[in-house]
Amino acid sequence: MKIAILPGDGIGPEIMAQAVRMLDVLREDGLPLELEYGVLGGAAYDRYGVPYPDETARLVRAADAVLLGAVGGPQYDTLDRPLRPERGLLAIRKDLGLFANLRPAILYPELANASTLKPEVVSGLDIMIVRELTGDIYFGQPRGMGVTAGGEREAYNTMRYSESEVRRIAHVAFGIAAKRNRRLCSVDKANVLETTEFWKEIFIEVAKEYPEVELSHMYVDNAAMQLVRNPRQFDVMVTGNIFGDILSDEASMLTGSIGMLPSASLDANNKGLYEPSHGSAPDIAGKNLANPLATILSAAMMLRYTFNRNAEALRIEAAVKAVLGKGLRTADIWEEGCEKVSCSAMGDAVVAALRAA
Ligand code: NAD
Repeated sequence: MKIAILPGDGIGPEIMAQAVRMLDVLREDGLPLELEYGVLGGAAYDRYGVPYPDETARLVRAADAVLLGAVGGPQYDTLDRPLRPERGLLAIRKDLGLFANLRPAILYPELANASTLKPEVVSGLDIMIVRELTGDIYFGQPRGMGVTAGGEREAYNTMRYSESEVRRIAHVAFGIAAKRNRRLCSVDKANVLETTEFWKEIFIEVAKEYPEVELSHMYVDNAAMQLVRNPRQFDVMVTGNIFGDILSDEASMLTGSIGMLPSASLDANNKGLYEPSHGSAPDIAGKNLANPLATILSAAMMLRYTFNRNAEALRIEAAVKAVLGKGLRTADIWEEGCEKVSCSAMGDAVVAALRAA
């Protein structure tokens, strides 16, 4: 189990150090994990002058999975675009052929007050949003800006999906739903857009291979409403790139705590890049204040989806729940009556809970 560890920038190294401690515990218990470190983003620019150097590319191609902290920082914002940290992220995703983005929105009952929605609407929420990452209107050709035959300025993009692109994301989504509560909601705008009418047809075909999963369909405008009206009706939602971009951000905000949310991006063989949903938080970097739980939970996702080690993933998730249950909170999720702890103290507590499990 070869894992490339890319701490990245800002709070990246602090939160990654805590996630690695969890992996060390599992390794002591016999899991054959091999960790190798590399640089990405600003850290890579500082050392090699580019955000995704060849050394890192070699490392991540040879690994079975990649665990990433976060990239970016104000000191890099004035660089030429191709040299900026975010380009490193785009480059690694493209290089590894990561087409399926998995974003869970989980609200632990202990954190129900962190949401802007009423606790009774969101407490216990557990949704998985599967977003196609490499097609759709973000990449479709033709695209551009120009001038119409009549001489008026215009701009255009093309929403486009091939059958193979839809089939492979459908298989990922059905596979995930089969491992959860076996309910999959495919989000489209089939009443208006041919591309998504086609998407829906392919999903209905693929569904025949997964009789144990109940497939439903929902228009994207309704899905946006249902997510705030009654989000617990969903188990797994799957959608194309642009709808997924918007709905996954909406869903993550239901939880009110960005420092808690992991994510995964997978290729066709379940090789994956795992990272917290948040950024590099330069405002609190180096202060031992960051919440490491999203990164720790990303490591749990890695064990589940790339290494098929559900028991170990559940063990980490249970340790996180136990620590929240004891009332320990980093500053971002702190509330009256709880104990405020640093990033490393949160790591200490999760390690202790993991050892006790
Ligand atoms: P951000 O997610 O870094 O921070 C937003 C707010 O949330 C900040 O107040 C921050 O302190 C807080 N926050 C984020 N993660 C936290 C954590 N684990 N614990 C406690 N508080 C946390 O988003 P931003 O401020 O818009 O971006 C900062 C930098 O991160 C930018 O350079 C941006 O490009 C980059 N970024 C990177 C990624 C990524 O690596 N995938 C994603 C988003 C943004």
